Amino acid sequence: MTTHHIKETMSFQKKDYIIHNIQLLEEKGLAKISSLPFAARVLIENLARNMGGTISWDDVVGAAKFYETRSNASNLVAFYPSRVLMQDFTGVPAVVDFAAMRDAVHSAGLDPKGINPLVPVDLVIDHSIQVDHFKEKNAFFLNAKKEYERNAERYKLLKWAQKSFDNFRVVPPESGICHQINLEYLATVVTTRKTPEGTLAFPDTLVGTDSHTTMINALGVLGWGVGGIEAEAVMLGQPYYMNLPQIVGVNFVGKPKQQITATDIALYVTNILREENVVEKIVEYTGEGLKNLTLTDRATISNMSPEYGATSGFFPVDEQTLDYLVKTNRSETAALVEAYCKTCGLFNTHDTLPNFSKIIEVDLSVMETSIAGPSRPQDRIPLSKVKEKTAALYHLKNRKDIEITQKGQEGQENQENQKNKTKVLTNGSVVIAAITSCTNTSNPYTMIGAGLVAKKAVELGLSIPWYVKTSLSPGSRVVLDYLNGSGLMRYFEALNFNNTGFGCMTCIGNSGPLDPSIEEAIKTNGLDVTSVLSGNRNFEARIHQEVKGNFLMSPLLVVIYAIAGRIDIDFETEPLGFSKDNTPIFMKDIWPDPQEINQFVETYVQERFFKEQYAHIFKGDKLWQDLEVTETTTFSFDPDSTYIRKPPFFKDFSRTIPPLSDLKGAKVLLVLGDSVTTDHISPAGAIPVEYPAGKYLTDNGVKPWEFNSYGSRRGNHEVMMRGTFANIRIKNHLASKTGGFTVKFPEQAEGYVFDAAQKYQAQNTELVVFGGKEYGTGSSRDWAAKGTCLLGARVVIAESFERIHRSNLVGMGVLPLVFQEGESFEGVGLKGDETFEITGLNDIKPNGLLTVTATRKNQTTSFKVIVKLNTDIEIDYIKNKGILHYVLRNMISV
Ligand code: SF4
Repeated sequence: MTTHHIKETMSFQKKDYIIHNIQLLEEKGLAKISSLPFAARVLIENLARNMGGTISWDDVVGAAKFYETRSNASNLVAFYPSRVLMQDFTGVPAVVDFAAMRDAVHSAGLDPKGINPLVPVDLVIDHSIQVDHFKEKNAFFLNAKKEYERNAERYKLLKWAQKSFDNFRVVPPESGICHQINLEYLATVVTTRKTPEGTLAFPDTLVGTDSHTTMINALGVLGWGVGGIEAEAVMLGQPYYMNLPQIVGVNFVGKPKQQITATDIALYVTNILREENVVEKIVEYTGEGLKNLTLTDRATISNMSPEYGATSGFFPVDEQTLDYLVKTNRSETAALVEAYCKTCGLFNTHDTLPNFSKIIEVDLSVMETSIAGPSRPQDRIPLSKVKEKTAALYHLKNRKDIEITQKGQEGQENQENQKNKTKVLTNGSVVIAAITSCTNTSNPYTMIGAGLVAKKAVELGLSIPWYVKTSLSPGSRVVLDYLNGSGLMRYFEALNFNNTGFGCMTCIGNSGPLDPSIEEAIKTNGLDVTSVLSGNRNFEARIHQEVKGNFLMSPLLVVIYAIAGRIDIDFETEPLGFSKDNTPIFMKDIWPDPQEINQFVETYVQERFFKEQYAHIFKGDKLWQDLEVTETTTFSFDPDSTYIRKPPFFKDFSRTIPPLSDLKGAKVLLVLGDSVTTDHISPAGAIPVEYPAGKYLTDNGVKPWEFNSYGSRRGNHEVMMRGTFANIRIKNHLASKTGGFTVKFPEQAEGYVFDAAQKYQAQNTELVVFGGKEYGTGSSRDWAAKGTCLLGARVVIAESFERIHRSNLVGMGVLPLVFQEGESFEGVGLKGDETFEITGLNDIKPNGLLTVTATRKNQTTSFKVIVKLNTDIEIDYIKNKGILHYVLRNMISV
């Protein structure tokens, strides 16, 4: 049997579509498709449609059997996502790489126009806007202006890419957050593509360069976050290699209590699934309780998949999906989705429970209103216990009451009188209250619920203490439309929750500065203050450098805690404030009735808003339109730019693959311990003035206050390679102090890692990096691999690797090797000043063994390491010195 046996024509509305109907596998007696989880069916269809090359018919049937038998064996497959989603932090380096590839092709005498993404890409610019202005009528406009002042060079590159590349769309700044725009507009659920044979129809699938790409699973679109290099590979037509994930079913039963919001459910699910360990598994939601969740409730739950550790949290297509598509101005899409999914067995009618590898029952009726914190999203605290928990954290051990007087932000109006400017700040005070993050801004119920809280609070005369930095960052323009349309925006504004901008803002840590008096009080007195936000991540310093405790909660609770001004409050017994006639006002007095919220949602979240806002989503506002770029095939890299530089990845590019030489005379650059994160390897935050990246910027005329962050300078390899292994908290066992230091051998001179690497490169000395367990853990960061490569490391030898970082190293041509079971750097007797040799590199095999020889003072030690490559294609990547070279060579040789 071949793929032709499952290829069919589906006629719909007088059009024919070529489909790969995996249900036919069941008709032929090959696999019981109708019993499989829906996510498995999507994966099997993907394999069937992409057969040929790396995928065989046996792979297709094997995958179906894998899920039918609930196998837990490793089963490596090649997955071809139908599109890629990016945000600007990760998108800029990818565009720089593509621009450099065009230059390389041009230098090879070929047409650079041939270099384009082969898979459709959407890049949404949402990560850079910061809350500089707030509590001001025009805060949004002022923040947007500042954003352009800071990021014009990066945005010009992206605008150039928008005009120059095929298959590449850019959603300009001030439009919204990538995952919300994906949910409300970009996702098609079923993709159609013209081919010489006819129009193909198939499930919309994607990978994204942001971990919360998972949100789109709420719409029955299978997708997850990957590293930047992996995304570039997919853009270049390469498959995404992965072991078939286990699919765990979460069976929702019961109905949530009236006051429960999607945020409460997401925090509850996060807490439970963390305990169940769903890491590297897909969670698929099922059960009769699903009917009690709206599609946007599902989106809040899917969004938090990285927090509960799952690859994705999938809700199969059902009536809710169709309903949402219609309400968001996608009626035609809904009709095709219904026809396609019903034909191919991808429509969930909720009448049977699929054959999951495991089922976890979750009772919605027992859920309580909750928050999570102070530093982990899984640390859920029921509202009734918050006072007890946080009082213990913030007051009982060390109470500090510091009187502060507002200094005010530059250019910011202050309508409060002088008397109100003096307040007491103490441990547990809320200094940031942000309605932020696609997790919740995509959910009209929680946004309107928060608006109704604000309305009732204002009507009862409540206000928010000035020391609370309040902000509202809608995840799309539609949110502002329905908040304005319902009249709720004016109540937000009355409480100082002005619109600060359409982007990630506080959720990504762009909460901006606090009032100087607050920062001073925190620093001088060691105050342990808090933030409250409707986001999904809350680790220390994520939200603001000076704010250790960050509590996640629904937008409704954000408003309530902002009014309270402190985290340690018992809403049952303590009033939020007093009305003008001195009546105490409790939380229950301003908590809206769920019927009222639903009625507002029904009335004011209108299809026409989606139609109007998304009609011109790629056009951008005046600031974008005024950005001047020249439409050229190759990008004119400005030699004076400190943001965007041509990377050296293709400097010595040749059409033929040079043989992989043995490693000889190599030295150790660093010896690192366990759980070294990608942030240790390539920090995203502040650039210290005295570090090599800081010196480089200063030497290039950039003032320290204009440094911006490593994250925003990812388009400049000069900054990024100097920033590699330069986290101020990294501990290199060769160096005497913590930070980006090492010892250069044989001189034994201690200095910055970058400076040592430069000296080694000048001497043509190759380098080895040693790591402990889980090397490269943390969020995926392609510069952690790119920087390692540019510093001259050819191999990294660790006790174990984090999955994405290992893959990114391979993508950059750096060979990952692991010690044999029970062995380690110290275990094999290494000191760090040895000279290393590894032979046989040109003949490596996946998971094969290599011998490392270390010589020290004429004494030789040998030990075996395992080649941590999974497939033959990864060997090709290593031999080609990375995936970009591999693809470029293939393109040139066609
Ligand atoms: S709002 Fe937060 S979760 Fe959403 S894309 Fe931005 S940073 Fe990620």
